[in-house]
Amino acid sequence: MSKYDVIVIGGGPGGYVASIRCAQLGLHTACVEGRETLGGTCLNVGCIPSKALLHASHQLHEAQHNFEKMGLIAKPPSIDWAKMQNYKNETIDANTKGIEFLFKKNKIDHLKGWASIPAPGKVQIDDKIFETENIIIASGSEPSTIPNVEIDEKVIVSSTGALSLSKIPKTMTVIGAGVIGLELGSVYARLGTKVTIIEYLDYITPGMDKEVQKTFLRILKKQGISFVMGAAVQSASKSKSVGTVKYKLNKDDSLHELEGDTILVATGRKPNTNGLGLGKLNMELTERGQIKTDSGWQTNIPSIYAIGDVVEGPMLAHKAEDEGMAVAEQIAGKNGHVNYQVIPSVIYTAPEVASVGLTEQQAKDSDRSIKIGKFMFMGNGRAKANFAADGFVKILADKDSDRILGAHIIGPAAGDLIHELCIAMEFGASAQDVALTCHAHPTYSEAVREAALACGSGAIHA
Ligand code: NAD
Repeated sequence: MSKYDVIVIGGGPGGYVASIRCAQLGLHTACVEGRETLGGTCLNVGCIPSKALLHASHQLHEAQHNFEKMGLIAKPPSIDWAKMQNYKNETIDANTKGIEFLFKKNKIDHLKGWASIPAPGKVQIDDKIFETENIIIASGSEPSTIPNVEIDEKVIVSSTGALSLSKIPKTMTVIGAGVIGLELGSVYARLGTKVTIIEYLDYITPGMDKEVQKTFLRILKKQGISFVMGAAVQSASKSKSVGTVKYKLNKDDSLHELEGDTILVATGRKPNTNGLGLGKLNMELTERGQIKTDSGWQTNIPSIYAIGDVVEGPMLAHKAEDEGMAVAEQIAGKNGHVNYQVIPSVIYTAPEVASVGLTEQQAKDSDRSIKIGKFMFMGNGRAKANFAADGFVKILADKDSDRILGAHIIGPAAGDLIHELCIAMEFGASAQDVALTCHAHPTYSEAVREAALACGSGAIHA
């Protein structure tokens, strides 16, 4: 068996992208994956299946709420859950097979099994040892839970179980108003489940711009989702097919209980280093169990690198992908680089929520003088025509230089619109640069231009 230049451990967005780039750069590459299929959490039990369910349930919402307004007279569709699950599974299949195809095309060996690292330069799968110059650990993350809450993936589920419930629950209690809780909570709310989200903090989606948080909460409530804010979940238990969540309100320490057919635990994820043998290698970890790396993603052991959810930084597939490309380039002797200041984050609810760069609070905390340009989708013709006029675009720019420092969008196609502002930030653009760029009419992206105009001499349609 010939020695590899690189063995990548993990076939998720970080690992498969790193493998492809390594192979493209002429390195003899293998990728080890323990799951049956490539694609990691994202393609198998994360981003992709959740987007299929978000899409299907959004279509249902449109049929129920907007068809008639457009003169489309049809019976509102009913739900065939088994078929919706099939659609989701076929979407997963198409995507994971796509990665298999790319591996073949790029002559990457797909090694099946769970890997460990007995020593630098060696990767073990069962009793087979593979030799390699370099190792990239891209082993991802797994759902983390809280004390007294044990996930059984039937009644008390993580995001994984929530994607494959045997039936649509009548009631669902979600623990945590972060990305997962809100995305999956809104899927089931649209499918008719009575969803209650319990959140420890007094606001949803920690880390997001406060103005967006408020608007987002208002919109989600209007969609029928209930929230218990400022509440610490103490335990979750099940008897037969009913789950009970006990929580304490922070304001007065009072104890409460809530029953639900399903309890979704969405309290964060933790790095997955299980079974890799990092202890024996004396690999340095952070207090939170992430692998420590230098700015070139090299661990404290030369020739072993780590990227994605298993290292520090936001747990986002696209951040892992960027690191995957960059680490491959580093190993190939080039200058791989990731600009951590310009990593967008998107919540795929309806409306979508997207942001990049500094929030208003962060900009103020950093003692910068800023100006803010904001434009409501209510003033955007396309959004109004499509019944999608709730929300806004907000751009933060430096008061003196006009350079864009951050952007926050809640509204239609926010997850796509944000990239115009990412590119602008990468090029060091000013708000005026965006404002002076002709934007096609009628598009949602005109709202981005209007927000940029509002940083200067003023928006037109406000
Ligand atoms: P999160 O960290 O985004 O949110 C967890 C929430 O749970 C927090 O608001 C926290 O205050 C709350 N919480 C924790 N303990 C609690 C308790 N005892 N009682 C009540 N509330 C409690 O975590 P998540 O939503 O599980 O997502 C995990 C990771 O996956 C995140 O890093 C996220 O960015 C990533 N992810 C991203 C996307 C996306 O980009 N669209 C989608 C899914 C997941």
